[in-house]
Amino acid sequence: MADGVTRSFANHWVVDPVAELAGVADVHVASGTIASVSWRDGEAAARARWAAGAAPGAGDPTLALFPALIDMHAHFRQPGANGSEEVESGSRAAVHGGYGTVALMPNTEPAADTPALLQQMTDGERHGLRLLPIAAATIGRAGAAVSDVAALVAAGAVAISDDGSPIANRELFRAALAAAAASGIPLIEHCEEPTLTTDGEAADGLVATTLGLRPWPAAGELRAVESAIVELRSVIKVSPTVRLHLTHLSTAAALDAVRAAQREGLPLTCDVTPHHLALTDRWIAGERRWAWEATPNNARVGPTHDAFDSNLRVCPPLRGRDDAAACRTALRDGTAMAIGTDHAPHARQKKEVEFGVAANGIAGIETSLSVALAACHADELPLATVLAALTTGPARLLGITPHGCSRGEVASLIQVDLSATWRPGRETLLGRSINTPLLGRELPGVVLLTILAGRPVYQA
Ligand SMILES: [Zn+2]
Repeated sequence: MADGVTRSFANHWVVDPVAELAGVADVHVASGTIASVSWRDGEAAARARWAAGAAPGAGDPTLALFPALIDMHAHFRQPGANGSEEVESGSRAAVHGGYGTVALMPNTEPAADTPALLQQMTDGERHGLRLLPIAAATIGRAGAAVSDVAALVAAGAVAISDDGSPIANRELFRAALAAAAASGIPLIEHCEEPTLTTDGEAADGLVATTLGLRPWPAAGELRAVESAIVELRSVIKVSPTVRLHLTHLSTAAALDAVRAAQREGLPLTCDVTPHHLALTDRWIAGERRWAWEATPNNARVGPTHDAFDSNLRVCPPLRGRDDAAACRTALRDGTAMAIGTDHAPHARQKKEVEFGVAANGIAGIETSLSVALAACHADELPLATVLAALTTGPARLLGITPHGCSRGEVASLIQVDLSATWRPGRETLLGRSINTPLLGRELPGVVLLTILAGRPVYQA
């Protein structure tokens, strides 16, 4: 690569989820290609450090080098809502977040249900980012007829989904599963039983009751998951290559149902979001503690912020500590293969309104790594688990080769200062919309440099 970057990363904490190695290493990139990786204590030790969770110990460097991340679930809002985000701004945000590959959901306006619309969805300045379109599972996402999946896959679709909504009609759901299977791609389902969740504003529970918000019950997710599993069991008999992925699961009960179905041998996978594993519905009441932070005994821990921050309105809604803990457990035990950001930017006029009428969604692609690192720093998630869920896990789902950190590979790497912190805000976020409840909060982990396909595309 004639114009690729040449640069040495000496004495870095290097984690490679592809080779399953972690440790102190010197990495040399020459003309955009990884020319050498030398592990200070040898490869056997690096294999052991990976197996032990990949966290740097005291005395290890805090400057880290990871492969570029992969997001299997983002909304860049193009075409139709470019005022909220578009390919250029979303890609700029993604490379700031440490991503090298992003799969885009098709709930654009109109819905991406034709090859031409898939093209429009990914058109524009990408800042080196690899963009993978997911096509609408049903025509117009209207839930009446399955899209022309073969044509969409030929045009580059890596999955189909009606994300934003479930495919509520069971017969159509089976047909979509079979069509995806015939084209060798997964169906990604947004699990929500609309008869239970319509107009829901917050998780059913004390916070919703206290604040007078309409409940979006946990059963609304569980029922959809159970029903999807029933249909998967029936479709696999006729389409043995079928694959079903349930996205942004948020409840312990739904994750338990997935775990049981996986034990049964069903081709079922799922992901969780950074916000569901780290935040709780108490944030809506004005509290600002991570989901894993204990409520001190005998201390009256009141809200520190105004209640009803509409940046917390999201679908599925934020839930209690136990559900957030279940999301982390699912990552640790492999029930969930990926952390998907569900990056859902919204223009101010859709968010700076009353909680119950605000659009659902959190812009999360720039804070995802930091939120996950906060869980690592608190010993809630091993770094190896987090990085696998941000690289090899989603790659497996999308059927793509993950970026690695081995000699001879074209460099797609991120340099992260694990000991530095930053605060999301208008000055620091690069996306078009800044609808995140993390505004102003100190977050660990600063992406200093993103190199994609051998070229630097972001530098702090
Ligand atoms: Zn969704």
